[in-house]
Amino acid sequence: MSRYSRQEKLFGAEGQRKLSEAAVSVAGCGGLGNYVSLLLASAGVGKIRLADYGVPSESDLNRQFFYSGRKGFKTDILAERLRELRPDMEIEKFQGFIDENNVSEALGECDVIADCMDSIASRLVLNSYAASKNIPLAHGGIDGFYGQATFVVPGKTPCLRCILRESNSSIPDSFAPVVSIVASVQASDIVKHITGTGETTAGKLFTMFAGTNEYGTVTINRDPDCPVCGRSGPSR
Ligand SMILES: [Zn+2]
Repeated sequence: MSRYSRQEKLFGAEGQRKLSEAAVSVAGCGGLGNYVSLLLASAGVGKIRLADYGVPSESDLNRQFFYSGRKGFKTDILAERLRELRPDMEIEKFQGFIDENNVSEALGECDVIADCMDSIASRLVLNSYAASKNIPLAHGGIDGFYGQATFVVPGKTPCLRCILRESNSSIPDSFAPVVSIVASVQASDIVKHITGTGETTAGKLFTMFAGTNEYGTVTINRDPDCPVCGRSGPSR
């Protein structure tokens, strides 16, 4: 039995091979980044690039389990933990705060970007870059019991700029079960996209509210005036 025998029927040997050759950049190594990278590594993705600027604080540990008992930069600790999990996986790191000037260097060569950031401003930097390079972007976000995710395919679906609005600088409450569900939707979308299996959340927004057990998807529409993907945007 191979390591992936329990999932190979879902994706086929060819799908599993595609995963082994795929590179995913995980932007942000907080709660979402911990789970997304764990799930992608476990699924057999060939290369993961981790990008983050921070070090873990005590208040991160209710959801960023990989950092318990470790000191150092999040990218270094996470890379070490993922290496223990998947010694055969290639891991790259970018240490720094992602902005429009370094986003290309931060994300490197990749097939998909996982948006695991914690601010709208940073997400929009990823969104513009993904649109300009035609790279799919798996978005996830949480705020307390609320979570959302969508898979942005440049040229085909609305982009994040179409659905995200003004930045809210307050620090959201963060509850591991919500983080893990949203990250699971992101990882599931990424694996399905790479293997060509099933449907991603492309063109839809997955939303959940754990407080009252409401889970579902709604169709999202392109903002015709979107400066990134609308009529007036650079990609149209
Ligand atoms: Zn847009």
